[in-house]
Amino acid sequence: MTVLEQLKNYARTSRMALVNRDKQLSYRELDVRSDAFAAWLLDTFGEDRSPVMLCGDKETDFLPCIFGALKSGRAYVPIDSVVPEERAAQIIADVKPKVIVDFTGNNWGNDAQVLIPAALSKILKRPGTVSPESWVREADTAYILFTSGSTGRPKGVPVAAGNLDAFCRGLLPFYPQEGGVILHQVSYSFDVSGCAVYAGISRGMTLFTIDHAMAANLQECFAALEKSGLTLWVSTPSFAELCVQSERFSQALLPCLGQFLFCGEVLTHTLCDTLAQRFPSARILNTYGPTEATVLVTAAEITEEMRKDSRPIPIGGSIDGVTLRLERDGQVITGEEETGELQILGPTVGPGYWGRPDLTEKSFFTDRETGLRGYRTGDLCYQKGSRYYYCGRADNQLKLNGYRIEIEDVEANLQRLPGIRRAAVLPVRDGEGKAQYLAAFLLLEEPDGLTPLKRSIALKRQAAEFLPAYMIPRKFFAVDAFPLNVNGKIDKKALAARLEGTP
Ligand code: AMP
Repeated sequence: MTVLEQLKNYARTSRMALVNRDKQLSYRELDVRSDAFAAWLLDTFGEDRSPVMLCGDKETDFLPCIFGALKSGRAYVPIDSVVPEERAAQIIADVKPKVIVDFTGNNWGNDAQVLIPAALSKILKRPGTVSPESWVREADTAYILFTSGSTGRPKGVPVAAGNLDAFCRGLLPFYPQEGGVILHQVSYSFDVSGCAVYAGISRGMTLFTIDHAMAANLQECFAALEKSGLTLWVSTPSFAELCVQSERFSQALLPCLGQFLFCGEVLTHTLCDTLAQRFPSARILNTYGPTEATVLVTAAEITEEMRKDSRPIPIGGSIDGVTLRLERDGQVITGEEETGELQILGPTVGPGYWGRPDLTEKSFFTDRETGLRGYRTGDLCYQKGSRYYYCGRADNQLKLNGYRIEIEDVEANLQRLPGIRRAAVLPVRDGEGKAQYLAAFLLLEEPDGLTPLKRSIALKRQAAEFLPAYMIPRKFFAVDAFPLNVNGKIDKKALAARLEGTP
């Protein structure tokens, strides 16, 4: 059954779909409000099925807009409120939406109709039903997520309704029971939010919201969580790492919690050990997947044996319906513990990149033997038994606090700043190999006469016009010239050596 069918079913019950601070939305209200939005979209735009842009954080009406877009047969494009206007404008230029639902107060100043919360609220109260005939079908795009792109412009990843159905079918066996309360902290613009929005709603769960302001204030966050009745935790490991810094984060705070589900970046031994000790009755699930193959494609329950093993925490085996294989130099690897690039095949693999056939051709393919759609992840892994182990990237993509960043994206945007001739950016990693922050080396057009501190403050302010805060380097170093390697490229190893010992 699809998520929209499940939503209709649960709308006949008295279940709660969403809790957001002091607001609640029942399944019935979610169904009615999303029908109203869908009816308005169909009335206003008819056959024009351009994607609907949704800009905001975790506003209560965000969810009815998502399901309303899908019920009207349209894709939605979420843009998080942390994305600077200039970068959001690039996404808008790529997608050309006819309507933008805006919770941010930004001035979009383009051709689209902008719905501010007051106008939206009126629309969501209008009576209106929509026939399932109008809903998104299997091959229709359900959402387009924009991730960091190596050209310095965000890159759109469309995901079809059928991809989401396959993702839910593969993930739901790992969900403990029908109902319960699931953490809804991950941004809508990050696909891991699908664990709550799609899998959670498919199981009649209540989405318990933690918005940006709450996530940044642990006292407030814990005060809310204490009353949540949370049964299933979903987040990046980074958010849980932030929480465990406080001793309060334990089973006493979340007595009903039965499972942690992590996705999006390396799960460390340190975090698993701390959680196993603080939450003796919760199991820990590590999952892995790229946006291009719909949220996640592997899962592993982390056992004590895995925690004691000197290997990294495994990402597990493939979820139902997904095929995985490793390739090196164009050859499929069959031997155990041999490292290669992970390829994902099956119904969760999306159609490709939005408006970028060149990039699509590089990374997506159709397998000749099986006819399955495939995606080359760029992730290096090896297999032992039925488990896969992640061992880094084959390119310059990285995860920082759970955010996906292409280093070239940061470099290209720093080079747009006045006075910067060339920029080279590096991640600074901790002992477990996890990126802690970015450092930028800069070749200036001419001496700027500024102290390193003043330069750093000025650059951070200027960079914030083009880049979200999580992509802005913490440290800047001016260089007279870049060290070059034998190929004449910037020698990043030599630059990394200069960072050694930097706190
Ligand atoms: P995203 O498209 O933002 O979900 O990022 C996908 C990338 O995050 C993958 O290609 C991996 O590099 C990384 N990733 C996701 N899950 C994990 C995990 N459990 N362990 C290590 N890396 C992960």
